[in-house]
Amino acid sequence: MDRYQRRWAVTKRKRSTDCRQLFSRLSEYLDGEMPPGLCEELRAHLDRCTSCEAFAGTLKRIVDLCRALPPLSLSDDVRAELKSVLAHREHRGNMFRALGSFQ
Ligand SMILES: [Zn+2]
Repeated sequence: MDRYQRRWAVTKRKRSTDCRQLFSRLSEYLDGEMPPGLCEELRAHLDRCTSCEAFAGTLKRIVDLCRALPPLSLSDDVRAELKSVLAHREHRGNMFRALGSFQ
């Protein structure tokens, strides 16, 4: 491996680590719940990483579409089961932390 290949491998590994960290905090960013300093850091990452920029854009469109849907009317059984699943998921961490662990 020559000097350029080594440098590329290090850059690629660093980028992958940055991407995983971004995945774990992306829901906070989209919900406007991220601390300002970290928000700037994340925006800087999105400016230089086309993969994360594309993923964040797609996720934002999905979130916007879901928010535009009319509210659902759930039966008591489904409501209770959903609360149970969400409580269990909250205990284990959110979906994006889980996604980050598979990178
Ligand atoms: Zn990235």
